[in-house]
Amino acid sequence: MTQFYGKTKICYGDDAMDVLEQLAVTQAFIVTDQVMVSTGFVDRVKSHLDRSGVGYHVFADVEPDPSLETVVKGARLLLQNKSDLIIALGGGSPIDAAKAIAYFADKAAEDAGKPLFVAIPTTSGTGSEVTDISVVTDKINEVKIPLSDEALIPDIAILDARFTRTVPPHVTAATGMDVLTHAIEAYTSRQANAFTSNYALNAVQYVFDYLLRAYRNGDDMEARENMLLGSCMAGMAFNNSGLGITHSIAHSLGGIFHVPHGLANSVLLPHVVRFNSFDVGIRYQEIAQKIGLPASTVEEGTASLVKAIREMNETMGIPNRIGSLKIEESAFMANLNTIARNVLGDICTAGNPRRPSEGDIVELLRQAW
Ligand SMILES: [Zn+2]
Repeated sequence: MTQFYGKTKICYGDDAMDVLEQLAVTQAFIVTDQVMVSTGFVDRVKSHLDRSGVGYHVFADVEPDPSLETVVKGARLLLQNKSDLIIALGGGSPIDAAKAIAYFADKAAEDAGKPLFVAIPTTSGTGSEVTDISVVTDKINEVKIPLSDEALIPDIAILDARFTRTVPPHVTAATGMDVLTHAIEAYTSRQANAFTSNYALNAVQYVFDYLLRAYRNGDDMEARENMLLGSCMAGMAFNNSGLGITHSIAHSLGGIFHVPHGLANSVLLPHVVRFNSFDVGIRYQEIAQKIGLPASTVEEGTASLVKAIREMNETMGIPNRIGSLKIEESAFMANLNTIARNVLGDICTAGNPRRPSEGDIVELLRQAW
């Protein structure tokens, strides 16, 4: 059986925040971080709630890579406040934390109905506003706890590009390349289907049309809005299709060398496209054709796509080799087999079109150094 699941109501455009005034709720619990408080973004959310007479409690304790401790604290407060609405405002971390808070609070409360969940992303990258995934870090045992459950998917996503306007260029670049990686890996996944491919291919087009514009001029609101849409579409795709080994390797580089997620994906993506091209070259040719690159043969299409990704990286100051990241060569080489084993055990590897061996990954990593 082939399935596609899309539950989230997506509201976008200049007046998208007005949806907050149309909800049949009485008490909101806003999950966010201190940056959102200091930039006044939390006040914008509050003003909509004030207008419709909805009470609120602001939980602004979410840190990058949210901890289990924060999530437990948030879940307790959520239950104490008897909230029937959760609003997640921020980048990937506040949205992930809010998903886990809602999940644990629901497990703890026997009688209370599940609060309505609204996600408002302030970066164009994770697609977390429409996915069933959340990652929480157990800081005491230093392990990441991935949660994946349909109950984690937000009910409503508000895509208001004004929240992304102040994102600095280097973050716009890395998060935007993460969107491209989601889209390309979703399109070539073993679990791709007609619906995921539709969202993924269009997301690729959005990134190629708008990412460089948003990077060069953060005030280009047409570009900002379309990157938010592209990010959300890529999220819809990979939530159903899974991803591939660009993500698996990025997870391991993040865990061992603390390379930021989007940056790791940007550097690795062209290398993984080359690696996979023997198996799914025709899919890369289709992507190249979609964005108007020379692609009269499979080989030409793959080469064009790799060249276009590399050029996009170079234009935005992102290196094309792992060796250009802040990693010691000796430490990297000493960890090649560990990374390869992590990759084989990573959940994203199941989606990769080519089944890699440990030796294949080691070779890929050497070539990408
Ligand atoms: Zn990603």
